[in-house]
Amino acid sequence: MIQIYNSQTRQKENFVPLTPGKVGMYCCGPTVYDYFHIGNARPFIMFDVFRRFLESRGYEVTFVQNFTDVDDKMIDRANREGITVKELGDRFIAEYWKDAGALGVKPATVHPRATEHMQEMIEIIRGLVDRGLAYEKDGSVYFSTPDFHDYGKLSGQNLEDLDSGARVSVDEEKRNPLDFALWKAEKPGEPSWDSPWGKGRPGWHIECSAMSMKYLGDRFDIHCGGQDLLFPHHENEVAQSEGYTGHPFVNYWMHNGFLNIDNTKMSKSLGNFFTVRDILKEYEPESVRMLMLSAHYRSPLNFSREMMAQAKASLTRLYTARDRMTDLEKTAKPAAHQDDLDDMKGKLKEIEERFDAGMDNDFNTAEAMGALFELVYLANTELNESSAKESVEEALALLNKMTGIFGLLTKKEDEVPQEVQELANERAQARKDKNWARSDELRAKLSEMGWLVEDSPQGQKLRRA
Ligand code: AMP
Ligand code: ZN
Repeated sequence: MIQIYNSQTRQKENFVPLTPGKVGMYCCGPTVYDYFHIGNARPFIMFDVFRRFLESRGYEVTFVQNFTDVDDKMIDRANREGITVKELGDRFIAEYWKDAGALGVKPATVHPRATEHMQEMIEIIRGLVDRGLAYEKDGSVYFSTPDFHDYGKLSGQNLEDLDSGARVSVDEEKRNPLDFALWKAEKPGEPSWDSPWGKGRPGWHIECSAMSMKYLGDRFDIHCGGQDLLFPHHENEVAQSEGYTGHPFVNYWMHNGFLNIDNTKMSKSLGNFFTVRDILKEYEPESVRMLMLSAHYRSPLNFSREMMAQAKASLTRLYTARDRMTDLEKTAKPAAHQDDLDDMKGKLKEIEERFDAGMDNDFNTAEAMGALFELVYLANTELNESSAKESVEEALALLNKMTGIFGLLTKKEDEVPQEVQELANERAQARKDKNWARSDELRAKLSEMGWLVEDSPQGQKLRRA
């Protein structure tokens, strides 16, 4: 049974989808005013893995991740660059595809853009006004928090506590400090859309209520995002959606912890701000995935050179194990007796159960990763030339299943060009003849051509440098 830590109840709960066999999942996506950074990559990668895991369990997952393509940051940058907000959005959505694709993040079922859902937003705002939960003031519409009695339930705060810390800024016409804009009256230099309250643009929170309910229905299973979004973004989504429909909105709220750089908060002013585009100039995308998966998604995660070096080394161990198993599979013979297989079968089953138990436990990828490396250890110690073909195949299938869920080992075995293979064969002969000087010379030549030679008990192996 899959258990999910629900931010709303602050405990782990059994996961029971609304419709058996189906899961509706909405994740807050990027604001497309810039390249996304390595912190943003955490929810993109983690929720991609959870989706893959749910799919591996046979669920049909409808996964929705929006693009926030109109807000203050978008407008500021578009104005600075002298382009329209639409042009800015188009540009960074295209960049999102490149970076997310490089990181192995599968496209969502739907990637709605906020600016293409004005009617849906206006409909909800109109409903909230009709129900007395929102009020208009000079062309803007605000949500009236004291009129929604459950306000604060998601983040576990009550209105009085929240109220005491809040201030109304001078340029706003809100009745209460916690009220928030659903619709903002047009200002010079800002894009605007027609509405019953005049020209204007939507508030940020209403975008996610409208897009999630449009594609998943007005009640759905999982809503996710980074922990910074719990309040006020998600609290306000609950208020808007439940205020509008009159019934519960989301069953499970999931929030990922923050990624820090060298144990400090990432920020532009500290200069420790890294885009994925920059990181991928230096590191392989799968190493980034490996690092993210090594920690539970709710824990803070540190990004540093040392952590990346460790992630890379772990990834290499995985690839080496797969190569070794693939080689063994080619030569292994079928078992002579069923008994020969039972022992390995039992061990593989135990590892698979440990992997599943980790993932069932609130998607604890760190635990599941432990099981994956037990398999690597088992393969390295117990599989060899005399292993039965069935055992090698089964171990390899389990490796592929686990790494498939993690989105790792996506690179196929390198195809070796003929001239490289010939030099390598020559080197193998030189080693047989104990002609070490010639063997070293050939290794250097191969290295110049961009190929590394590794010697193992199974013989030499070629890998791209
Ligand atoms: P944004 O484009 O800022 O709205 O962020 C997109 C997603 O990235 C949201 O789910 C954020 O909560 C998440 N996020 C932003 N910064 C970090 C960080 N440093 N670590 C983890 N998640 C983050
Ligand atoms: Zn959102």
